[in-house]
Amino acid sequence: MTPLGLRIDVDTFRGTREGVPRLLDVLAAHDVKATFFFTLGPDNMGRHLWRLIKPRFAAKMIRSRAASLYGWDILLAGTLWPGRHIGARLGPTLRAAASAGHEVGLHAFDHHRWQAAAGHMTVEALQREIGRGVDAFSDALGKRPDCSAAAGWICNERVLEAKEAFGFRYNSDCRGRSVFAPRLNRRRFAPQVPTTLPTYDELVGRNGVTNESYYDRLLDLMRPGELNVLTGHAEVEGIVCAARFDKFLTTCKNYCFQPAPLARLLDQTARQSDDAIVQAPVAGRDGDVCWQRSALAH
Ligand SMILES: [Zn+2]
Repeated sequence: MTPLGLRIDVDTFRGTREGVPRLLDVLAAHDVKATFFFTLGPDNMGRHLWRLIKPRFAAKMIRSRAASLYGWDILLAGTLWPGRHIGARLGPTLRAAASAGHEVGLHAFDHHRWQAAAGHMTVEALQREIGRGVDAFSDALGKRPDCSAAAGWICNERVLEAKEAFGFRYNSDCRGRSVFAPRLNRRRFAPQVPTTLPTYDELVGRNGVTNESYYDRLLDLMRPGELNVLTGHAEVEGIVCAARFDKFLTTCKNYCFQPAPLARLLDQTARQSDDAIVQAPVAGRDGDVCWQRSALAH
């Protein structure tokens, strides 16, 4: 069996309230543990989605039928009324994931703000933003997060530097191909467990991939014996694609892949190689994201 790192990003109020409980049921039925990365602060994701409206993104919204995918309440969150605070309102749902034995970590305080601004914030400003997330996580879950995953894979050297102050055991901030330790100016940062596989919204609508064939395409892209990390979303795998994701988990086992939390992949890596991070695009997504440098050479 090759482990399949299974990371669930929870970006919105509705994704937390509806998607997380459904995913907990599906994962329990398959006796699978995953890593949930939570957004704790205000849900302003509607602002994020509208801010990005330009031809390429509009095409993607139509391609993935965004309104039916996300629901109008997500598209409007934080635009017509102040964003609802997820951690303060939905603590029991977050705690249910932890008590079911899943790994839990910090995704963002304000997901929209992180995606819009983190790329040009100072180390001090980043630390304030991460600190808000750590505090809200601790309030909701009764313990500090020991791992984190930058929203939208928006990460750079200042983000790595800012995160060091929080003592995370590992982070999952970039796209890549192996567990590695970012190295900069002779300094070695906390290890990274990168996402290796494309997300739902990156693949659907390109090269003939449809809602129905996304998970089959994923199985084609998974590599036995190598690092495989899938990032799902509570809004997708927990709501609109829940039935297909359920089937995918069954098929995974037939293909000899065992879904697992990311910490297990870290523990199974004898020695993390050193590598650098760079900014580069990823197919099907708007703008640059953070990459493990050596992965781009492949
Ligand atoms: Zn996210």
